[in-house]
Amino acid sequence: MLLTVTLNPSIDRSYYVEGFNKNGVYRTKYEKITSGGKGLNVSRVLKKLDMDVMATGFLGGKSGEYIKDELDRLSIINDFVNIDGETRNCIAILSDDGSHTEILEKGPVITEEYFYLFLKKFENILEQNSDIKFVSVSGSIPQGLKDNVYKRLIMYSNKFDIKIILDSSGEYLKNGIEAKPFLIKPNLDEINSLLNKNLNQKNFIEEIENLELENIIVSLGEDGAIAKLKNNFYRIMIPKINVINPVGSGDSMIAGFMIGYEKDYDDIRLLKFATACGMSNAITKTTGDIDLNFLKDIINKIEIKNV
Ligand code: ADP
Repeated sequence: MLLTVTLNPSIDRSYYVEGFNKNGVYRTKYEKITSGGKGLNVSRVLKKLDMDVMATGFLGGKSGEYIKDELDRLSIINDFVNIDGETRNCIAILSDDGSHTEILEKGPVITEEYFYLFLKKFENILEQNSDIKFVSVSGSIPQGLKDNVYKRLIMYSNKFDIKIILDSSGEYLKNGIEAKPFLIKPNLDEINSLLNKNLNQKNFIEEIENLELENIIVSLGEDGAIAKLKNNFYRIMIPKINVINPVGSGDSMIAGFMIGYEKDYDDIRLLKFATACGMSNAITKTTGDIDLNFLKDIINKIEIKNV
């Protein structure tokens, strides 16, 4: 069983409009509504690939009920702390020129009491499900909680030999890596912000080595990725594809990594599978979804070399 943590989930509304610009009024060509927050995207992809998955975090109000119903419908086991506030909405506007604009609600304030309830739940889940050895914690931290929340979760998990993938940004990532998560998967902006640099794809291998983390994947969108797995560095090169909606590609990559790791894939197979999951998300309309036929096909077109 794989566990995903989403502290700040959302209902994600993706609107597809033609010729999107500031100040206009637009009718959607089509829209997609999914339960979101990075961790829930990871959960959906894990489920689509037939894994047993459990999701936890905070849910509240009518939006929270909507998300719980969707998780039940997808047979994703869910055990969230119910809060007074209303789970947020996040809006993505995708247009025919390839532009992609996001508006993210701040979301509810989580009190220390609720966080305490969450910690208890997290502990219970891990105690009662001894088969959970791998956890992803993703996304932003809700208002009201301290920046070191992820650090606390990682420190707790490390004690029990549970591996945590941390996929976050800014202060949450900076703080979290102090507790040495098993893997981080920043994109180029996130790694630059973490290192306080403006590096390009060629010159940050030494920099990521200095972070002294066991595993790091820096995902580079259409340019593939660079990975450090233990002491090996890899450049992952991908072919050009017809992208429809890249939102959630990083989350899908994490789902792919979790599966490959659970199945004991070697580095190359693991990275190819994770990358193919990211790419496969980018060609679907729905955030955090993958096309299984595309996945099978594209995996053979990804090239990896040691660097
Ligand atoms: P994030 O969603 O975290 O910002 P990326 O955009 O880097 O992460 O995407 C993660 C992975 O998904 C990439 O390494 C790549 O394999 C795939 N991917 C994302 N965007 C594209 C794209 N435009 N074309 C091809 N592959 C993509």
